[in-house]
Amino acid sequence: MVERRLIAVQGVVQGVGFRPYVHRLASESGLFGSVWNGPDGVTIDVEGDSHRLDAFLRRLTLDAPPLASIARVDVGSAAPRACRAFSILPSETGVDAAPSSPPLPADIATCDACRREMLDPANRRFRHPFITCTACGPRLTIARGMPYDRERTAMAAFEMCAECRREYRDPGDRRFHAQTIACPACGPALTTVHRRDDPTPFLNGDALDAATDALRAGRIVAMKALGGFHLACDATAETAVARLRARKRRAAKPFALMVRDLAMARALCLVSEPERALLESVARPIVLLERRAGAAVAPSVAPSQRTLGVMLPSTPLHHLVLDALDRPLVMTSGNRSDEPVVIDEADAFAALGEVADLFMVHDRPIQVRCDDSVARVVAGDVRVIRRSRGYAPGTVALGVCAPVPVLALGGHLKNAVCLAHGSRAMLSPHVGDLDSWESRRALRSAIDATVRFAGVQPQVIAHDLHPEYASTLVAHEIATERQIRRTVPVQHHHAHVAAGAAEHGHAGPVIGVVFDGAGLGTDGAIWGGEFLLATGASFSRCGHLAYVPLPGGDAAARRPWSMAAAHLASAGLPGTRPEVLAEREWDIVQQLLTRPRAIPRTSSVGRLFDAVASLLGVCHVSRFEGDAAMALEAVADVRGARAYEVTFTGDFPFEADPGAIVRAVVEDRERGRSVAEVAGAFHRTLRDLVVAGCARIREATGVATVVLTGGVFMNAALLSAAHVALASRGFRVLIPGMVPCNDGGIALGQARVAAHALLEDACA
Ligand code: ZN
Ligand code: ZN
Ligand code: FE
Repeated sequence: MVERRLIAVQGVVQGVGFRPYVHRLASESGLFGSVWNGPDGVTIDVEGDSHRLDAFLRRLTLDAPPLASIARVDVGSAAPRACRAFSILPSETGVDAAPSSPPLPADIATCDACRREMLDPANRRFRHPFITCTACGPRLTIARGMPYDRERTAMAAFEMCAECRREYRDPGDRRFHAQTIACPACGPALTTVHRRDDPTPFLNGDALDAATDALRAGRIVAMKALGGFHLACDATAETAVARLRARKRRAAKPFALMVRDLAMARALCLVSEPERALLESVARPIVLLERRAGAAVAPSVAPSQRTLGVMLPSTPLHHLVLDALDRPLVMTSGNRSDEPVVIDEADAFAALGEVADLFMVHDRPIQVRCDDSVARVVAGDVRVIRRSRGYAPGTVALGVCAPVPVLALGGHLKNAVCLAHGSRAMLSPHVGDLDSWESRRALRSAIDATVRFAGVQPQVIAHDLHPEYASTLVAHEIATERQIRRTVPVQHHHAHVAAGAAEHGHAGPVIGVVFDGAGLGTDGAIWGGEFLLATGASFSRCGHLAYVPLPGGDAAARRPWSMAAAHLASAGLPGTRPEVLAEREWDIVQQLLTRPRAIPRTSSVGRLFDAVASLLGVCHVSRFEGDAAMALEAVADVRGARAYEVTFTGDFPFEADPGAIVRAVVEDRERGRSVAEVAGAFHRTLRDLVVAGCARIREATGVATVVLTGGVFMNAALLSAAHVALASRGFRVLIPGMVPCNDGGIALGQARVAAHALLEDACA
């Protein structure tokens, strides 16, 4: 069978005779196509007999030229074109032809050498909050354009002193050509003020002391960090943390902590070896760790959570503050709730004036907004939950070759955008939820920055199927402004699956199990409990959770009790009003449920989690996205073996009956089984549902590769259980790792689906 592969090879593969080698290898193997140098490696477009292609791929790495060092090989597929020759193309004419400059690096945590210097009283950068070198410091967040040179960074305004200039020019110096080079004589300056027009600001060393004194005294300090402002306070002082919650109007969503070092992290949490590596990685993400019983942090830091989000210092300034205090700090994004993190002083004084007692700022502008990243380790593997500082804008595999630049605008919540060209895709930092006008403005600037750094103009725009998502509206605006004629709408859950397949470089059909909150389906219903078979640009819906009414539409996500009422009504059970609820609210929903045809329908597993959390009395009202599901996971006893029966009706699409699960939950509670036991059984039931659904699809199609994705799979207990169960039944399981399984990853999937659509058009 003749097949065509698009192979992206990364590593040291240019200037080492790699293309002539590929030419020789392809010719010997009787294969046709072309090879060329791309922006980040070599791309091979090759077709021929599938066995020969497999052999070619095996030899490609084994027999590579001695000077070549292959870091990564991504393989995608496309429709064969009946080529009859193999040629080496000039760099410019390949479909990968793109920026002449190397990709822009992400921000890098302070290195050990700089750390040692800043602790050394004899060093001229002793206690300098902006110490950096070629191995560390800001990159993305100070960049204005490409190529990445000092004049196109926020450092342009700081003229190097004679000593810095000497280091910059000395090939033997650690700071040879370090664009961020600075010292106390020529670099940015630190200032601490009480308010915008404070007549007596504290400067430099005094600024640091003023801020640390305030933190020690239980005050709240707004600190300008790499990609935005943080709000910091003493994490061990309940009054301080409670005050921050009250002022920020943030009821219960956990706060992240910054600790001085690994020892302090270990004092609060259990830290496994992969978790240590993740904490200490140069990206320095917030890592979700299991908290120790009696961990010495204020109760308000993370109410009713089994985990704490912990990060190590990522900048010299953080090190200085944490060294001075010797206690964990709450370190949360400086923003008004639901708005993007603040990046400049004027906004900080306006937005955080009521929240912070003191502002520690400096005169190096933040060019690109970049929140802290969040990640965790599940069963030994890193799962990024929010991909931002330290990771963005690093490229990820697309798993297919985008023949022209594709800009994908992502979803409505946890938005991030993606620009794909050739075999690679660049993901923007986390933009966030798009409900506010401010966040839409942030979306526009994230798009501008992404296009600027990629150095290519998008020719196709991909967006969610939902016509009212802010990202969809912006997609159409941009298409008009930039005269882009092709826009590709992508179904939300199809995008989730495509993102998972892309990251793993998987080509060909794949089963996608998408357990999610909400996404518009092709039938107008709100999907979120989906079994899809995804192939290139299209997908078919093989099965789903049976529909239930979604009372109040999107607002239902904040009211688990109303989902409980909806599920009870669908299961033919009488509803009982939770005591915490006003009768009037309850009656309105009951009224709605008597007219199910008048309200939207949903297959969402996220909403089923909400319903069960409310039925068990764990959470009736969600205070933040995922509140109920997290609470249910936290109480679940995962050691048991009981699970409820999963029943299906229909055939492609089959429907799994949530009514049976809901009836079993209610019966179990009436029998007096504990909340922990029932919650555990519910988790195992969903695991069984995943396995049974995949088995049906494998039987009918022979496809045995599964992508597990969607926001619900941030649930570590469910993810590991489903993973193990599928693997033990012979499935190959792909799980998003460096790209979030939640809506933060869907822009990548949209770009991949659009790339497939373009390739399929080209062949038609
Ligand atoms: Zn350094
Ligand atoms: Zn200097
Ligand atoms: Fe989603």
